[in-house]
Amino acid sequence: MVAGRTRPTNPRGYPWAVPGRTCAFQKELLAWYAKNKRPLPWRQTRDPYAILVAEVLLQQTRVDQALNYYHRFLEKFPSLRELACAGEEEVLKVWEGAGYYRRARQLVRLAKELGGRELPRTFAGLLELPGIGPYTAAAVASIAFGEPVAVVDGNVRRVLARLWAQENPTPAWLRERAQSLLDPQDPGTWNQALMELGALVCVPKQPRCSACPWAAFCAGKSDPHRFPQPRPRRVKVLRVWALAARGRQGFIFEKREGPLLGGLWGFPLVHEAQGVGKLLERYGVDRAWPIGTVRHSFTHRAVTVEVYLGFSPLQGDDPRVRPLSRLDRKILVLAEAAVVEGAPRL
Ligand code: SF4
Repeated sequence: MVAGRTRPTNPRGYPWAVPGRTCAFQKELLAWYAKNKRPLPWRQTRDPYAILVAEVLLQQTRVDQALNYYHRFLEKFPSLRELACAGEEEVLKVWEGAGYYRRARQLVRLAKELGGRELPRTFAGLLELPGIGPYTAAAVASIAFGEPVAVVDGNVRRVLARLWAQENPTPAWLRERAQSLLDPQDPGTWNQALMELGALVCVPKQPRCSACPWAAFCAGKSDPHRFPQPRPRRVKVLRVWALAARGRQGFIFEKREGPLLGGLWGFPLVHEAQGVGKLLERYGVDRAWPIGTVRHSFTHRAVTVEVYLGFSPLQGDDPRVRPLSRLDRKILVLAEAAVVEGAPRL
């Protein structure tokens, strides 16, 4: 720890950042970050589009998984211009498996709306684009364009709540605290350093306080698990029925609608067992057999799917060319195994 007049003893009420210079506590975090940051590809670039893609992915996808999608996405759509020319389905195919498909659809919308223009260079300008919230706008504005605006993601929230021993920090409090810490000399690096501290040291379950550059003045370190309190999460349980209708060339898929999986393709579903009969009629299936249950969890939803297998005189689709959700991939595995095992003859 660097000693000096700017050394904070307790974060509560302490006048943190000083305009025009980098204070000791800021230098400590930046030094820690320079030594410990992971060599992630979106940290090696100032390309606003590549940073945007990374930040959108990282909102709901773990870093190790996001790496793969980041490379795939930029290889296929290396610039906003290429993305603007792409069809939604083509983009969803590249995004397949990453989940939260709304993000991919919004990226396409954003590229088309810009129509070949560059991304706005300010937080306020970025916020006006479809699908861009305060986190993404702050990340792109600070990292790509050096605007002094603080990001608040889950990692930053946890660090700040512990630093100030806050059980239930409000979004306004978090924004104000994050902004008060920001190093205006290099806000992009500062934001990444704070997020990295939350990702590597101030982690949810076993924070490594002994390795933390801010341990000397953290108000919550004696009982970090108290801060912040978990947000109440209500998980809706949903039961649906799916028809895996095997056509002449492959299974029959429908294009999904709605906010959750809209734009992707999947097995026809109904919300009541009696509705399966209608699906049989729709696809010319004489008889269907129950072949098992598939369970899948989304963030706020747990879905149980009762799967029926039948044969249809229709063509069907090759699942390799359709963007399918993880849920539908699970149903596909079950249905293909049932066909191989000869389930209909049971
Ligand atoms: S001292 Fe511990 S609880 Fe406090 S910020 Fe560092 S890692 Fe988190």
